[in-house]
Amino acid sequence: MHVMRAVQFHGVGLPAHIVEVPRPEPGPGELLIRIGGAGVCHSDLHVLEEGLGFSGEFTLGHENAGWVAEVGAGVSGFKEGDAVAVYGPWGCGHCHACQLSMENYCENWAALGGFGGGLGFDGGMADYMLVPSPRLLVPLGNLAPVNAAPLTDAALTPYHAIKRALPHLTPDVAVVVLGLGGLGHMAIQLLRVLAPVRVIAADIDPAKLEQAKKLGAHHVIHTGDAKAAAEQIHKIVGPRGAALVLDCVGVQPTFDLGAMLLGRNSIWTIVGLGGGHSDFRAGSTPYGCTVSITYWGSRVELMEVIAMARNGHIHAEVAEYPLDQAVEVYAKVKAGQIKGRAVLVPDLR
Ligand SMILES: [Zn+2]
Ligand SMILES: [Zn+2]
Repeated sequence: MHVMRAVQFHGVGLPAHIVEVPRPEPGPGELLIRIGGAGVCHSDLHVLEEGLGFSGEFTLGHENAGWVAEVGAGVSGFKEGDAVAVYGPWGCGHCHACQLSMENYCENWAALGGFGGGLGFDGGMADYMLVPSPRLLVPLGNLAPVNAAPLTDAALTPYHAIKRALPHLTPDVAVVVLGLGGLGHMAIQLLRVLAPVRVIAADIDPAKLEQAKKLGAHHVIHTGDAKAAAEQIHKIVGPRGAALVLDCVGVQPTFDLGAMLLGRNSIWTIVGLGGGHSDFRAGSTPYGCTVSITYWGSRVELMEVIAMARNGHIHAEVAEYPLDQAVEVYAKVKAGQIKGRAVLVPDLR
């Protein structure tokens, strides 16, 4: 029996554990992936600290890419050595939503026992990862797995949110992105590729604002003083308000700031799991607003995101770390010290 390293969730309030576990073997229909990169997502901190409904023990890492190492019986379409991204939200595969490739909105999600690899099931912060079906893989071509891993969540999640809003993103409007971490720094690039809007990037960290400017933001706003920030943004968006407020943090201060930036018929989308809330009733938001907490994206949308990266339209700013440093990297993510996305690379020692 081969063993491998894995970074595991061992219970709410406990730090991530680095352990040795048996290397899994693919059963019929399954594939074993040698991990080339596993993105370190802020939502893992919510899993570790609050549980988010998860229990038991499982390997973390829900932003994964690597190479096919072994294929189980009956698997076609992939062979050993193929570079692949792993689609994160695993649905039942056969309901209406899953048939549309929107496994992120699987109708049977509550009965599945987990949300995907790294979220209830074993994920990719390990030397190897088992994937239950080839439908959950997207070929990378010449894109390196370490650069592709963050795209599976940090790019796919804002891509899905922005795509839903596209009919509203006309050339005369502005979009505000709140929070310029892993998701936010991708959202800036995606908006520049997808929509002719003015992009306003907002964060409390001047270094991230500087990066956002380089990635194509038209305006950058420091949000240390929320009232001053809202005033600055109002000057840019005018009475229309922001056509889309994309909140990549979801803490109370970003909820409160986001609410101030909406106009009539605006879209307010929250993709960060920061635990903030908003009182929703007549008069709480301008008429016609669409308020949504979207979740991840579809399989086809991941294909689109990977295509954009392969064409050079978007890229994840990646900071590589050895797998054995997972606990330290989580501390850096929590402290907001990562510019772009931290990625654990098993091959780095
Ligand atoms: Zn995530
Ligand atoms: Zn389903």
